[in-house]
Amino acid sequence: MTPSAENYIVWIGFEGKTLVLLLFGPPGCGKGTQSRLITNWLHVPAISTGDLLRAEVAAGTDLGKLAKGIMAAGGLVGDDLVNAMLARRLESDDCRDGFLLDGYPRTVEQAEFLDCLLAKRCLPAPILLHLDVPNDALVSRMTSRRECPACRRIYNLLHQRPLKEGICDDDRTPLITRKDDKEETVRERLDTYERVTRPVLAHYDYQNYHQIRGDRSPNYIFEEIVGVLEPFANRNGNSASGTH
Ligand code: AMP
Repeated sequence: MTPSAENYIVWIGFEGKTLVLLLFGPPGCGKGTQSRLITNWLHVPAISTGDLLRAEVAAGTDLGKLAKGIMAAGGLVGDDLVNAMLARRLESDDCRDGFLLDGYPRTVEQAEFLDCLLAKRCLPAPILLHLDVPNDALVSRMTSRRECPACRRIYNLLHQRPLKEGICDDDRTPLITRKDDKEETVRERLDTYERVTRPVLAHYDYQNYHQIRGDRSPNYIFEEIVGVLEPFANRNGNSASGTH
């Protein structure tokens, strides 16, 4: 159903507080697509540290220059740099009523930093949404991925093709393959995820934790996420399922 002003949910937080959502999962699991859907639904900003870093690279900042080679090789940018970048972003006004983090924390050190940041600002513990996809499926998915460099919309040649080949449906910009979606880099990124990022789940001791099978269609996954988050949403009397 097409969203309309009447059936938007009015998001006023979790038990009157700010809501912190972590979208967790291996590279290529569909975090970008789901964070876009969640953000349209709940009107909270989706903050992707990958997008923030790509913006730094594009702007040629000192951080961007440092990050560029690491990202192209499929490694992780240093914790101190990413933590400082994230802390700056969370100071923005739009994060006041809640935010979703996509691709952060990616190390136990980042999770510890986030714990301190949330505690200092009297923000609640995060809700973890873990999009789990078997590794085999991820390699073909990521090497088939295309991105609009203007609006960042993600397409996939396997199941989410643009209407016109190679062109973004929304703004007609030619689509690109991200350098880090090349097969060798993809394998390196998956290896990093298993070694360094998966242990973050144990850090949270699987509290407020929701595992979601990510090897299904984006709409189906989103339905499940709505089901998980709906109990936390204070609604204006309309059904969440009417928003998508
Ligand atoms: P993503 O778009 O989230 O897949 O991120 C692309 C790349 O940016 C990753 O492969 C890393 O090199 C870097 N990156 C993104 N988020 C982080 C993070 N939280 N910590 C360290 N590096 C990151």
